Amino acid sequence: MNATGGASLWQATLPEAERVARPALAGDIVADVAIAGAGYTGLWTAHALKRADPTLRVVVCEREVVGFGASGRNGGWCSALFAGSRDATARRYGRDAVVAMQRAMFATLDEIERVLGDEGISCDWARGGTIQVATIPAHVSRLREDLDDHRKWGFGDDDYRELSPTDSSALIGCRPNLGGLFTPHCAAIHPAKLVHGLARAVERAGVTIYEHTSVSAIEPGRLRTAQGTVHAEIVVRATEAFSAALPGLARTIAPIYSLMIATEPLPDAFWAEARLESRPTFADFRHMIIYGQRTADGRFAFGGRGTPYHFGSRISAQFDRDPPVFDALHATLRSLFPALGDAAITNRWGGAVAVPRDWYPSVGFDRDRGIAWAGGYVGDGVSTTNLAGRTIADLVLGHDTDLVRLPWVGHRSPRWEPEPLRYVGVNLSRKLVESVDRAEVAGRDPRWRSAIVKRLLG
Ligand SMILES: Cc1cc2nc3c(=O)[nH]c(=O)nc-3n(C[C@H](O)[C@H](O)[C@H](O)COP(=O)(O)OP(=O)(O)OC[C@H]3O[C@@H](n4cnc5c(N)ncnc54)[C@H](O)[C@@H]3O)c2cc1C
Repeated sequence: MNATGGASLWQATLPEAERVARPALAGDIVADVAIAGAGYTGLWTAHALKRADPTLRVVVCEREVVGFGASGRNGGWCSALFAGSRDATARRYGRDAVVAMQRAMFATLDEIERVLGDEGISCDWARGGTIQVATIPAHVSRLREDLDDHRKWGFGDDDYRELSPTDSSALIGCRPNLGGLFTPHCAAIHPAKLVHGLARAVERAGVTIYEHTSVSAIEPGRLRTAQGTVHAEIVVRATEAFSAALPGLARTIAPIYSLMIATEPLPDAFWAEARLESRPTFADFRHMIIYGQRTADGRFAFGGRGTPYHFGSRISAQFDRDPPVFDALHATLRSLFPALGDAAITNRWGGAVAVPRDWYPSVGFDRDRGIAWAGGYVGDGVSTTNLAGRTIADLVLGHDTDLVRLPWVGHRSPRWEPEPLRYVGVNLSRKLVESVDRAEVAGRDPRWRSAIVKRLLG
């Protein structure tokens, strides 16, 4: 992948008018708020701050270009998934915190939809929900367990409902289809259109974005870069998977790669069988996550995890490509939709998601040092970043809202183990997860391994 993330479908199909080149910082400047990172987190934070106080001088420094990171490369599930475990939330913060967090995630979709309308951002938004399909008997048990979990916290049919094989097949024509779990709380989007539209919206509000401006240190009162220092009372870290490269943060998150493929546009006859008419995002119940969407221009964009973790939390453009994983994704997609046949795969790409040691995202503000941060979304940041941006604005401006009382605010994850323990542990866990999926497909019941995986994945 080149420096603009050009191999992704989203970059390849981004309208020319959205490709705005921005200057780098040139010398020292002063602002009220300085943000490192022009992905969704940095831009939603800038958006929320300017909406609350249009007089604030807000500056964003981006090492590459807007949307270079996960925000320009993801699967386009704008979902209500919050990566942190509900049981862990309840143990630490109580049952009400679980419900409040989930309700805040549901409401975040409405908020994003409202902003898209207000700002005139067109990102192929289709609020078709998510269908998670059971394709083997073990998945049916997991479907019921997941449904029981939703019911345990008081979420009813309006939020999550079981679909019979017939109803599920009416939504998604994959094979086999043993039933599904449907939630209306998801929109399929074109991720790069969102991040670039958002950048232009904050610029209209008076925010300055500097591209090709790498922050070397985030310190109280300033962001240091090679081209100059941004002096600001408040600084914000919005660097997600790249944070591990910043001073003092090497063990805060582990970057785990997620890879994607996209097909050529598929004919109407194919979609008549595959369905997904309202563009619900889709997955199944395997442990090694897969995720897909029917794009607005009639392709599949389909991804999954399963690439190795790289020693020392390294991120490199060469890790965005892993031919065996691309082949495995293609085979999985074809097995779900045999009618795909020889349809061409036009794009293959990847990127890193940030995984905290306890798989629990967080947002926070250290008022004494004037440093705010958000991240560790694992693979569920498209909508969570909007909640993060609004929460940072409330924290920084001292607004006492419901958002600042949510359980992820001020949460501190434990640090990852030093290498080589981290390398061995993460990669062994990956192999274990794969072995459980393989055993289930073979009709075996890998009970003790499943129990470990359940603990590992929260
Ligand atoms: C392949 C893939 C598929 C995914 N699918 C989904 C999905 O379908 N749904 C979902 O909810 N989530 C998904 N995610 C996760 C989601 O994309 C992220 O959680 C979200 O985009 C995080 O946004 P962010 O702004 O925090 O981080 P990023 O988008 O990574 O932005 C961080 C920015 O900081 C910049 N930066 C880094 N270091 C510096 C520095 N030193 N100085 C200045 N700038 C710096 C980077 O260049 C980058 O632009 C996926 C992720 C990947 C990789």
